[in-house]
Amino acid sequence: MKNQVLVFVKSTTVVLFISALISLSVWMFKGNFIAAFILSVSFQYILFSFIGGIINNYFVQQTRQKELDKLEQLSSILECSSCKKANVITFIPDEKERVEFVCDGCTKKNVVNIVFSVARVTEPIIMNSSNTASATISNA
Ligand SMILES: [Zn+2]
Repeated sequence: MKNQVLVFVKSTTVVLFISALISLSVWMFKGNFIAAFILSVSFQYILFSFIGGIINNYFVQQTRQKELDKLEQLSSILECSSCKKANVITFIPDEKERVEFVCDGCTKKNVVNIVFSVARVTEPIIMNSSNTASATISNA
């Protein structure tokens, strides 16, 4: 957070300094100092936000690619929906792309439905026999 404030102050100082230089040169050629200053400040902010957007987008893409690389390939033997021939296919389970394969036998296109099923892990009930035994003794 503190770092971001520092970056903001730094970049703003640079923008204001450059704008002042531009406005000064405009003013020396008998131009309007204030108008040149406002124009160059806004121009630089538009330029920086544009470049910043591109850089940001690039890093988002990079991160996404890394996440995709982490996903392991799945291999499976699937029957062709047309001729029932068994095909060995390998794919990366990406949620955006649908998985398709072309059959080796009839060269028809197949779409793979990936279904994940979830089951609860059942724990065995442990009978506490020593407790039951002592209760029986005290009752007798
Ligand atoms: Zn087939």
